[in-house]
Amino acid sequence: MSAMEVRNPRTGQYDYSFYAATAEEVGKMADRARAAQRQWAERGLEYRTQVLMAWADALKTQGADIVAALSVDTARTRISEEELDAVIHFIHGFCEAAPEVLATPFRKVASHPDVVFKVTYVPYSLVGVISPWNFPLVLSFIDAIPALVAGAAVIIKPSEVTPRFVEPLRKTIEAVPGLKDILQLVQGGASTGQALVAKADAVVFTGSIPTGRKIAVAAAEAFIPAFLELGGKDAAVVLEGADVERAATSILRSALYNSGQVCYAIERVYAHASLHDRLVEAMVRQAATLKRSLAAGDGGHYGPMIFSRQGAIIDAQLDDAVAKGARIVSGGKSQTVDGAVWIDPTIVVGVSHEMTLMTEETFGPIVPVMKFSSEDEAERLMNDSQFGLSGAVFGPDSHVAGNFALKMEAGGVSINDTELPRVMMFDGEKTAFKQSGMGGSRYGATSLLRYVRKRALLANEGAVPPLSKLEETPL
Ligand code: NAD
Repeated sequence: MSAMEVRNPRTGQYDYSFYAATAEEVGKMADRARAAQRQWAERGLEYRTQVLMAWADALKTQGADIVAALSVDTARTRISEEELDAVIHFIHGFCEAAPEVLATPFRKVASHPDVVFKVTYVPYSLVGVISPWNFPLVLSFIDAIPALVAGAAVIIKPSEVTPRFVEPLRKTIEAVPGLKDILQLVQGGASTGQALVAKADAVVFTGSIPTGRKIAVAAAEAFIPAFLELGGKDAAVVLEGADVERAATSILRSALYNSGQVCYAIERVYAHASLHDRLVEAMVRQAATLKRSLAAGDGGHYGPMIFSRQGAIIDAQLDDAVAKGARIVSGGKSQTVDGAVWIDPTIVVGVSHEMTLMTEETFGPIVPVMKFSSEDEAERLMNDSQFGLSGAVFGPDSHVAGNFALKMEAGGVSINDTELPRVMMFDGEKTAFKQSGMGGSRYGATSLLRYVRKRALLANEGAVPPLSKLEETPL
């Protein structure tokens, strides 16, 4: 066991610590989870739903401590409350959807009238979940909950950057009989994550592309499925005839929410030459109405950066862009004030794909805007990326924008708005394209099926073909 120190993003002080679990400890947790999982699966969906609903109630009654812990680690209060609400919503949503998605009726087909069969679902025994720091609670449970509903046991390794919610959350799990071995949280950094991958039967990872690649390799060696939810560089394309004020507001909402520390944040904007200057003017004007939140509940709009290293990454991208001819028209590089790293909403023009600001993930409140003259050029630029998470298209109407959206190499495209795949998460299924991820959709109720294998049971109610007809046995 080794102690890990945790930084407070508002003060810059390291004022919390925890012990990272060793591989041996992860192994013991995995043994407990596997032993409990058999009953968890066998007692059926109704039982699992009852237990999970009881946990949702515990989260409601004991949620204040979780929100308080999250608020310290992330320097935000309202979003922390929303994270807790979202987890409760996931529990209800997946439990409600499961009877239909996991139904296994008997079937017959005309081509083989004597055979009655059904396809049954066999959950993986242990699903490992590894999550990042930008939405510590939601991204720990968005996959854990469908896995539990499907009948798997789950061990979650949250990010070592934002671990304070773990202790109060464990109390809610312990308050519910039947849950504590089935749903466990293990703390630590990379080596604890590696130990979890080595013990799991399936792994879900949310984080950066370089770590995702390592996990994919480890999972391939262990012969287990890996579902990867990785980085993004979402493009917004504003076509000729689009409503400029609407596009400006919607793009800023996406780019600046949680100070841009969001995988599906709009990180590059392509604006038709006829409206480029008006769009930039509207974004600068609208962004100027936003202010820093220096303390919880003070009416500010954005907090300091959660992970201090983000400041240096963003500064380097801005330096590179300016050195290559870009111009910052509002905001600018990071500022450290009383230990907190602040980046104000920043709009940059005169950018090109020679700049890392347009090609690598920024993960901050930076909005680079590039001019295009034809739809062919816009298509080439928006798809000139290693990423394919999601994006947005603004046009004169949904039809024109929707037709253009079909050309975007991304898993979810909002039309005349941003972030709609997240808003519609139980219905708008999507997969990540390119290096933004791998595996079936995490959105939509059918994500329950990620955590099961299919076992077909087939009964022949007719005669067995005689041996004399061996050569005529149908394929
Ligand atoms: P990260 O890759 O540094 O770490 C993520 C998690 O992996 C942490 O818990 C970390 O401890 C663990 N880890 C690190 N090395 C490991 C290893 N070798 N084996 C096993 N586990 C290991 O990512 P981060 O900085 O925490 O998160 C930011 C990234 O996450 C961004 O790239 C962002 O786009 C991405 N993200 C993606 C989504 C999505 O849904 N696609 C959502 C949120 C964040």
